[in-house]
Amino acid sequence: MVKMPKNIHTFIGCDSEHSKSATVLFSAPFDSTTSYRPGARFAGTAIRNESYSIETYSPYQDKDLLDINVFDGGDLELSFGDPVPSLKMIEQYVTNILNDGKKSVMIGGEHLVTLGAVRAVVKKHPDLCLIQFDAHTDLREDYLGSELSHATVIRRCHDILGDGRISQFGIRSGEKAEFEWAKQHTFLNKFNFDGLDGIIEKTGNSPVYLTIDLDVLDPSCFPGTGTPEAGGVSFLELLDAVTKIAAKLNVVAVDINELSPPYDQSGASTSLACKILREILLLIN
Ligand code: MN
Ligand code: MN
Repeated sequence: MVKMPKNIHTFIGCDSEHSKSATVLFSAPFDSTTSYRPGARFAGTAIRNESYSIETYSPYQDKDLLDINVFDGGDLELSFGDPVPSLKMIEQYVTNILNDGKKSVMIGGEHLVTLGAVRAVVKKHPDLCLIQFDAHTDLREDYLGSELSHATVIRRCHDILGDGRISQFGIRSGEKAEFEWAKQHTFLNKFNFDGLDGIIEKTGNSPVYLTIDLDVLDPSCFPGTGTPEAGGVSFLELLDAVTKIAAKLNVVAVDINELSPPYDQSGASTSLACKILREILLLIN
């Protein structure tokens, strides 16, 4: 009998066994608090499908996914419509990853999923620093009465981490009160990655969680998102910033979030997400 390979559905080149892998990739298909256009719950599946259109080899780094070991755990089965149990499930999953001494890479979902992962990481690393790339502040105290929303997620992270531990880049949308609040409590850099070198220096050896809301990118290269915001960064600017952080800092967990495949008519946003994810996996390994 000819041995036929079994059907798999992982991100390209990420089919290593769990026990052998230094990194665990998974997706959190939750988008119930999305304020404008939902659909980010489909990102994990879309990224895995589309990943077969890119190469495992990165010319940027001269590294190949086939030479490292990444386990892809697939989509978590989350409680649609209820953020409380969904965040608990994400927290538990990431806790398990970290307890096994592995790095966590999560595909959202909407940005609220970051809170579940941060809750897990801070238990392991109480001195955690959070770096956020985003078009939006996400610093509201509540959004339409809800404290758990993709518009409040970084404020909820601040509840845990406190002052001076959160750095925000690419921000170009939010309420005036959020920008005022940020002056006292976070480092907020509007529009681009200016100031990143200083934050890298200040962070030193502290453990870092990097959360990338993909709407930080300009809608001309990344239209497939729930809340597009003109005036964003380019793919190469994003890649450069991620590369600097991964090269110089102790990154223990990463997420990319807010890809919304139903709004990605050309497929270009999904393929960009695949490419940045490949680079992240190669950078942190
Ligand atoms: Mn966000
Ligand atoms: Mn955003």
